[in-house]
Amino acid sequence: MVTDSYMIGVDIGTTSTKAVLFNGNGSAINQATVEYPLFSTKVGMAEQDPKEIFRAVQYVMKKCQQIHSDQLITISFVSFSSAMHSLMAVDKEGEPLTRLITWADQRASSVMDSLEENEALQIYQRTGTPIHPMSPFIKLRWLKNEYPDMFQSADKFISIKEYIFYKLFGQYVIEYSMASTTGLFHLENRQWDDEALAVCEIDSSKLSRLVPTTYKLTSFHKQYEQALSLPAETPFYIGATDGVLSNLGVNAITPGVFALTIGTSGALRTVVRKPLTHNEGKSFCYTLVDDYWVIGGPVNNGGIVLRWVKEQLARDVAEEAVTLGVDPYDHLLQIASQSSPGANGLLFFPYLTGERAPLWDADARGSFVGLSLHHTKADMIRAVLEGITFNLYMVYETLEKHIDTPRCLQATGGFSRSPFWRQLVADIFGLEVLVPESYESSCLGAVILGQYGEGTLKSLHAVKEIVGTLHRHDPNQIKHEVYQKTYSLYKQMTNALQPTYKELAQWQKSL
Ligand code: ADP
Repeated sequence: MVTDSYMIGVDIGTTSTKAVLFNGNGSAINQATVEYPLFSTKVGMAEQDPKEIFRAVQYVMKKCQQIHSDQLITISFVSFSSAMHSLMAVDKEGEPLTRLITWADQRASSVMDSLEENEALQIYQRTGTPIHPMSPFIKLRWLKNEYPDMFQSADKFISIKEYIFYKLFGQYVIEYSMASTTGLFHLENRQWDDEALAVCEIDSSKLSRLVPTTYKLTSFHKQYEQALSLPAETPFYIGATDGVLSNLGVNAITPGVFALTIGTSGALRTVVRKPLTHNEGKSFCYTLVDDYWVIGGPVNNGGIVLRWVKEQLARDVAEEAVTLGVDPYDHLLQIASQSSPGANGLLFFPYLTGERAPLWDADARGSFVGLSLHHTKADMIRAVLEGITFNLYMVYETLEKHIDTPRCLQATGGFSRSPFWRQLVADIFGLEVLVPESYESSCLGAVILGQYGEGTLKSLHAVKEIVGTLHRHDPNQIKHEVYQKTYSLYKQMTNALQPTYKELAQWQKSL
């Protein structure tokens, strides 16, 4: 009997864990997903149950192997992607002392002011993680303040992937990519950063052993063989984080090829061949593999803002879509297309949920500027799309100066379903926009990294053959010029508005 060989890519995300079964050519054959809740019973809290995530990982790994095949299947390896910046404390037996504090948890913002600004900037420049409540570097200081006894008694501080690997293999290991999102890892030396550790009042014995992203483990505890439907000898590649793997999975690993994601939130990322940080701390730099680093900026205000438009500002349009039997987002975008570039002189600042890159300002708030009686709903919806995109263009400006030749944008996330929005992005950026054929880019990135680790893939650039192109949009130069003028005003207004956000936010909280 012939045996077909497959690979599994697992992505441990913030809302769900997913496993994708790939055949030897990198084509996705099957997938399984389990969602889990985010606990948010206090202001700013965003926690998860690590045990529930471990159960989810086991379930999806088994489930994705259940395909109808006459042939026996073997799994040549499993490789992992995981969300960034999560943190939990465990005791000497590996039992959780906290739940998993995710990147979205805002509570550590209370300790931000106690950091010496210059020292924080220098730590950022060595570690590549922006100084922000999402960062484990800040979370550790917060945990120490809030739970001093637990903090002292903790044996280790780890991310979710380290917890899963500890459960399976009985070892605490962290790969360079995840480590580079902790704010505690020296990018160039590939060691824990002593000064960052000292600021958090911990030593490296409280952290896991550092390994490359192509590190392989075998012989997981036999007790999990049945749950995973795998023999214990199956190789497990530790993999990397979802952000950098997504760049790999969409073939955005050449400097100047940007991965642009607009889902609920958004991000813009590109690869550089040496660690690179921003002089004011406005972009991240995370390790992918060997001499590949990913620089970029995450934004809070992506599709979540358009969802707000659908549910609040233009609920009538969404209701009309239901009557017409069309997708509400498609209908909103169709209406926006009736306006023109620059939305007839209307600007929208999309900061409905504060903002990370490029402002790094939790107090930022949204606004329409320039409204007058002639403006229509189409102008307002278009201004929203343009505002979300201008904000990402501002991130692009902080990265672009380090890139010799900006080439194109590889687009993913909910927005990439819309030809109108894709073209609008091409016109604003003045760059070609491509939509990769592959989906589940982080899982695909994980298995590509696994193939690279096992030596069957000699170069990461071979990913080009695996990732096809579904759609392509060239920028329209005339519209690009209109957008450049609009953007200049957008930037001026951003600078004018930002100093008012703190007081505005305080006023809102006082009401
Ligand atoms: P997530 O980031 O949560 O995984 P998605 O990548 O699916 O989710 O993105 C969801 C967002 O994509 C929605 O909030 C919406 O703004 C946007 N979106 C969904 N469908 C469309 C569409 N047909 N056209 C444009 N934007 C869309």
